[in-house]
Amino acid sequence: MEIRFWGTRGSIPAPGPYTFEFGGNTTCVEVLLASGHRVVIDAGTGMRLLGDQLKSQGKPVSFHLLLTHNHWDHLLGLPFFAPIYEEDTEVLVDGWPIAFQALTRIFDDHMGNGFFPVAFDQLKARIDFLNHVARGPIHLGGVTIDAISLNHPQGGLGYRLREGKHSFVFITDNELAAVGGRRLREFVQFVKGCDLLIHDAQYLPEEIKDHRGWGHSTYEEAVTLAVQGGVRSLLLTHHDPRRSDAQVHQIVERARQLAASRGAGSLKIDAAREGSSLHLP
Ligand SMILES: [Zn+2]
Ligand SMILES: [Zn+2]
Repeated sequence: MEIRFWGTRGSIPAPGPYTFEFGGNTTCVEVLLASGHRVVIDAGTGMRLLGDQLKSQGKPVSFHLLLTHNHWDHLLGLPFFAPIYEEDTEVLVDGWPIAFQALTRIFDDHMGNGFFPVAFDQLKARIDFLNHVARGPIHLGGVTIDAISLNHPQGGLGYRLREGKHSFVFITDNELAAVGGRRLREFVQFVKGCDLLIHDAQYLPEEIKDHRGWGHSTYEEAVTLAVQGGVRSLLLTHHDPRRSDAQVHQIVERARQLAASRGAGSLKIDAAREGSSLHLP
């Protein structure tokens, strides 16, 4: 699997000189499977750049779009994803069911009003909602994709993709220490032994008390999950829009020190960067 980050920012795009390194676009991750199938997780503003790249290749575009949830920072990029205006594009949408409804309402509310001048029915691409992965694992090109429901306002899904012996987990917009939500041990079970965990780490431990119930985690909580789950590598994502590149570096440093202090110095930790890609394994 090849994983490429087109957007890593949380909540709202945050362009500018202070976010140049880790990026200002909101969540969009492309996963190319060994079979050649393409999976895209979330349709944040980074999806515009992915669309331009795919269009420049001059071939028909076809992929699975896995939506984690319905919040706008995870949907805003689709109207600006150029291939949806092409007849030979096919988008198979799966994921959190109300996210697809929200996606269509960006274009119109079936009464003629939306947040965009083009109605959903006028898009030339074929866009179908499968609604499979929320009900059970799906199989795609030799890869099994499992989902887990998350602690987030209005809900959401995290995903585990397994290809042969290797797997990675993508969980954004998830409050690991939520009161009354899914327990940490259930997330530990879901991520157990994966090669790579990509997890929301929007807040600092000293900030989280003002943001309890908002559906996000700290780097400390993400490290705890990675250590208990025995994962090999952790990438922090959904960077707060106010967070500068220098501050993201500080978070990574603090997370590494924390892991080392817990006897998990071999756990690789970094922050997800827009435009970066990695191969698994
Ligand atoms: Zn978000
Ligand atoms: Zn959200």
